[in-house]
Amino acid sequence: MFDVIIVGAGPAGLSAALILGRCRRSVLVCDAGLPRNAASRALHGYLTRDGIEPADMLRIGREQLRPYANVHLRSDKVTEARRVGDGFEITVDDEVVSSRKLLLATGVVDHLPEIEGLKPLYGRSVFHCPYCDGWELRDQPIAIYGREDRGAGLAVELTGWSRDLIVCTDGPATLSTADRDQLTELKIPVREERIARLEGTDGQLERIVFANGDALFRRGMFFNTGQDQRCDLAARLGCEFTDRGAVRTGEYEMTNVPGLFVAGDASRAVQLAIVAAAEGAEAAFAINKALIKENLFLNRADETNTKT
Ligand SMILES: Cc1cc2nc3c(=O)[nH]c(=O)nc-3n(C[C@H](O)[C@H](O)[C@H](O)COP(=O)(O)OP(=O)(O)OC[C@H]3O[C@@H](n4cnc5c(N)ncnc54)[C@H](O)[C@@H]3O)c2cc1C
Repeated sequence: MFDVIIVGAGPAGLSAALILGRCRRSVLVCDAGLPRNAASRALHGYLTRDGIEPADMLRIGREQLRPYANVHLRSDKVTEARRVGDGFEITVDDEVVSSRKLLLATGVVDHLPEIEGLKPLYGRSVFHCPYCDGWELRDQPIAIYGREDRGAGLAVELTGWSRDLIVCTDGPATLSTADRDQLTELKIPVREERIARLEGTDGQLERIVFANGDALFRRGMFFNTGQDQRCDLAARLGCEFTDRGAVRTGEYEMTNVPGLFVAGDASRAVQLAIVAAAEGAEAAFAINKALIKENLFLNRADETNTKT
């Protein structure tokens, strides 16, 4: 029986493991090795780590857990999780392991637009988050991909990074009059032609080729096509979700399921690694406090039983 099982060893899970390790808790961390930003070459905006390779950051995070012998890392997928009594049981590699508290830091998976030629450019010059990758494309010609009405908000947001913006809807746009007026006011054209493919070299986008043969020179593209939870453990444990598909959490990343916490991208709107790490730390803080309280209660109950 571990004090805590953490599913997911991205920034959220590793940060929680570090705090809980330092609280002398017995911790098991299981990770399936599929971080959300695997396609990215550099992680930006993380204080003291701006521009680090994402894999390096995870390597350092794991290395810094090594002195804490009470923290165990497993490179395995958790396939089941159940609430049993006041605690939890998980299944990992056909083995059942139990804990008093459970933290899911399992992240999300992004829907990529289905456009020929996109995959080799994704994470290098095609992105979804301007806060992560806008700086590298400042003042450059940028396309915003969003079918129907999805690109308008992202285009407005991107005006902080470049004024050479074009929205590509890859088919008929269904923008509201207000959105159209705003794009016109900001001098952001909308191209509704179907996109045939993206072309580029060594990860650098060069042009968007439309089905009618026209080509549009662009140095970068941002898109907003949605995401799903990376795994369904939170749903199977009975968590509530927001309208946008994030696990609904309250103070300190607590969920509606007693003893279950969800931190990182899986539970929030601001999807930055540093926020995920902060949420992991917050959850760890609350988990440790809850365990201290429960231990005190158990000790008092033991003393009363011994006296009677
Ligand atoms: C292309 C791209 C570029 C980005 N660039 C930046 C950037 O520059 N700066 C920035 O701050 N953010 C960036 N992000 C966002 C950043 O990647 C996320 O905010 C961050 O990774 C969230 O951390 P997390 O710990 O919540 O999830 P993740 O990092 O996704 O980690 C979740 C982990 O849980 C594991 N897991 C899931 N289910 C299971 C299971 N059932 N069993 C075991 N393990 C499981 C996964 O394998 C994964 O390793 C970028 C994202 C993308 C897609």
